[in-house]
Amino acid sequence: MAAISMGKREEMDVLERLISSCRKCPLHMSRRRAVPGEGSLEARVMLVGEAPGEREDEEGRPFVGQAGRLLNEVLSGLGVSRGEVYITNVVKCRPPNNRDPEDAEVEACRPYLEKQIQIVAPRVVVALGRHSARLLLGYGGVRFRGIMQVRGRAYRVRIGGVDVDVVPTIHPAAALYNPRNRPLLVEDLRRALGRRGTDITDFL
Ligand code: SF4
Repeated sequence: MAAISMGKREEMDVLERLISSCRKCPLHMSRRRAVPGEGSLEARVMLVGEAPGEREDEEGRPFVGQAGRLLNEVLSGLGVSRGEVYITNVVKCRPPNNRDPEDAEVEACRPYLEKQIQIVAPRVVVALGRHSARLLLGYGGVRFRGIMQVRGRAYRVRIGGVDVDVVPTIHPAAALYNPRNRPLLVEDLRRALGRRGTDITDFL
């Protein structure tokens, strides 16, 4: 078991170095730091957001801004720490002014996410937001018609040779700016994490 974990760590270290020096798309020109991802390499659940924002670009870590704080609160309310999951984004470098990532940028960065899924081999991948949901559901040929149409369900797809259940939900930033969306995020994460019986009013 220890040897397997060691192998994963080394593989992820190599991948993180590749990402940090990557110049495959124009986003490398404006980034301060690439944001490969972080968390447990034995995680049962991987969370995939859309792209790093300003704070993430400064720190080189995913979900460390306001939306990240909300995500931490929701995870903690469900009895899960950040260290138990693996967190990353569809694109690893911040788009200028937080614009949406372009298709060509998503396509250029996609192999890194596939490799991360291969290394961690999670059972569940939570797609946080529409860009992530569109990409991840695409592996299963699921037609994406909007996050509200697909959120909260599990879709079995194969990514990087690994069979995973993709559970799309709204992006934490959407729950931050519209508190009425928070229960949706909580319910979807509860399902993805396999937690039952938590009263969402305990931590909203
Ligand atoms: S976003 Fe991805 S593909 Fe583009 S430069 Fe960064 S790591 Fe490379």
